[in-house]
Amino acid sequence: MDVFSNLSKYDYGEVHFKLDKATQLRAIVAIHDSRMGPALGGCRFIEYDTDDDAITDALRLARGMTYKAALAGLAHGGGKSVIIRPKRHFDRVALFRAFGRFIEDLRGHYITAEDSGTGLEDMEIIRTQTKNVTGIDPSHGGSGDPSPFTALGVRRGIEACVKFKLGKETLKGVHVAVQGVGHVGYHLCKELHSAGATLTVADVDKLKSERAKRDFGAAITNIDDVAKVECDVFAPCALGAGLNDTTIPHLRAQIVAGAANNQLAEPRHGDDLHARGILYAPDYAINAGGLVNVAQEVKGYDAKASRERTMQIYDTIYEICDRSKRLGAPTYKVADIMVEEKLAAAARK
Ligand code: NAD
Repeated sequence: MDVFSNLSKYDYGEVHFKLDKATQLRAIVAIHDSRMGPALGGCRFIEYDTDDDAITDALRLARGMTYKAALAGLAHGGGKSVIIRPKRHFDRVALFRAFGRFIEDLRGHYITAEDSGTGLEDMEIIRTQTKNVTGIDPSHGGSGDPSPFTALGVRRGIEACVKFKLGKETLKGVHVAVQGVGHVGYHLCKELHSAGATLTVADVDKLKSERAKRDFGAAITNIDDVAKVECDVFAPCALGAGLNDTTIPHLRAQIVAGAANNQLAEPRHGDDLHARGILYAPDYAINAGGLVNVAQEVKGYDAKASRERTMQIYDTIYEICDRSKRLGAPTYKVADIMVEEKLAAAARK
């Protein structure tokens, strides 16, 4: 890989590498932007076919964190770390201790958290080496599971879209089709149900759909049909790239607003939704509640403050909708412009 041209392509400042032969640690910390504050972002621990794949993943993910944190008004930049999962037998405790020392060496420039392949136990091991770690056990002052906060933020974003697009003050009688009722999807159904919305759900795991039916009276549809349901809001809460050439022509919802990361298969799908008059809540703007909650841990965890800040996602989404209408531009572009304005203002200070 031509590392420096990739850094330039993604507008990068720093990337750190660590090799620790004794523990087989091969780790990368990508710090995309720290103009708003120390970089915050999770640690991914998965197998990669090549080192290039690992570097690309770290660069791509860290940049997304800058955008999410800036739009949520957090005093954090975007970072992400990747540990290449060893193919041979390894000592997990020793490996995460070595990773903790690596984070400590960066002197607070990067703060880590959980991501795919890492969990609370790993964060507890890292904590023995550095204080620059979040997502630790609530009994040690940690913030716990971020999903309820992510779901709260998504509910607030849906309320803003419903007000903007449908002119309704509440979610009473609003029909939402939820794709994926895992951690966030389940809590979102709970939020929507208590606000009086009607639900249709689909999940590859039938037990999860049944649970949403039992707990919130949701109708169940199959996974191939959930994007086609005639409803007010389609809420993608499963995997990324769900808004694509195959699904968009079948959408019958006026609003797409959900928790999944990277919902647009390609940016042009955001243009397509705009051209069809479907209001899309940009993913990183609406799903920031979990990050808001984790960021609160850095200052000393306070669930009430996290909740209040997450509630403000309503205002962010409403502003995006409003500017999109005034500029005649798709919402995903407006969100990017808003972030770039914030970063430029921070650079001028
Ligand atoms: P999860 O794994 O708990 O839930 C995802 C659910 O989607 C699972 O129940 C899974 O069975 C289901 N699913 C998978 N493929 C599906 C398909 N084709 N159709 C329908 N259902 C399908 O994950 P989660 O933590 O709830 O996260 C959901 C999404 O939100 C992910 O894209 C994640 O990156 C994003 N996100 C999560 C958080 C958080 O706080 N957990 C924060 C920000 C963004």
